[in-house]
This record gives sequence, C-alpha cells and structure tokens, in this order.
Amino acid sequence: MRPDSQRIQEIVDTARSLYERGYSFGTAGNISIRTGDRVYITPTNSSFASLSVETMSQLDLNGKLLAGNKPSKETHFHLSAYRARPEACAVVHLHSTYATAIACLRDIDMKDALPIFTPYFAMRIPSLPVVPYYPPGDLMLAQEVERCAAISPAMLLRNHGPITMGKTLLEAAALAEELEEQSRLYFLLYGRGQQLTTTQVEELRRPFR
Ligand SMILES: [Zn+2]
Repeated sequence: MRPDSQRIQEIVDTARSLYERGYSFGTAGNISIRTGDRVYITPTNSSFASLSVETMSQLDLNGKLLAGNKPSKETHFHLSAYRARPEACAVVHLHSTYATAIACLRDIDMKDALPIFTPYFAMRIPSLPVVPYYPPGDLMLAQEVERCAAISPAMLLRNHGPITMGKTLLEAAALAEELEEQSRLYFLLYGRGQQLTTTQVEELRRPFR
C-alpha cells in the first residue's frame, strides 16, 4: 500500500463522482491534493472515470516526479496555485461546459467574471478573476494563476475552463460544482436576470476582507 493511499483514494472517488455527474468528460480536467511537502495529481491523459491509487502521480513541491505515472500537463498551475494560497490543500480544474462558456464570452469582466444572482456563491468567493489566455502548459499561465489565486480560491482560465481551490478536496470540488451551476444559471437567465446589487454583494463578501 502506498503512503497517503487513503488521501489518494479521495481523488479517485471525487473524480469518478464528478465524471458520473457530467462535470468532466473524456480526459478533460485534473485534480491535485497537497499533503505536507507532497503533491498528488491525476496523470496526463487520464479519465476521471478510471483513476487508480497506484498510478496517481506523486510530486515534490517543485514538480519533480517521485512516483506514479507522468503527471498532467497542467501541473505547473496547480503548483503555482498552492504557492499563492498556503492554506489550500486541493485544486480542482475542469473543462465543465457552462463555466468554460463564461470563460469564452467576448465581453467579460476580467476582475470578476460572473454576475451574482444568489447569495451563496458570493459568500464563498471574494471575486471570480479571469486568467488571460495562454496555451496549456505555458509557464506564463502558471504565473498568472498564481496572481489570481492570491485574490480568490476560484478563477476562470480564458477560453479554457475553471480552477477552484479549498482546504479540503471536498471544499474545492463543491466550489467547482457551485461555479458550474452559477454559470448555467447565468445562461438560463441571460439578459433577463435580476442581479444582486453592488451593496448586497459587498455585504455578503464582507467576511473576506
Ligand atoms: Zn485544462
């Protein structure tokens, strides 16, 4: 049995659950957890439906592979996200349809991409910054993720997809689901929604300051 195998099993279970409920498809997305000076991340070209504890990539905090299969091509931005948020122990990155659609909109507020219609989403994040477009694996992408992760535990990669972080994997995954559903709501309401006012949102987000 691998050390930390119970924690790695959490990635396997969470990934499968996200896949089965349509938040992930094909080989899209990646999940990591940090425990001490180790990071476990889903391997490159792996499906959320069929991960295993044995093949999960184990890295040090500099990205050096210690065990398991070759890690995701998007490992760089997981590591930079952890650097920006020392309290975070999990990162979830999806290509989920609606959040990705928000990231592809022509007109988008790069500082806070999603209008707020309901209180809980506003309460969970201080803002939804957008990372400018860079090709997958580009080191500039990691650098910009680090900048945005310092601002918020949720962000969008322009023309790519969402990233969420949490103290636990459960928290990061729940935030990813919440972001996807809020994005869906945005398109359902498109042009007809009554947003919460700036004052109402500021009041909800006050605990973050
Ligand atoms: Zn991606």
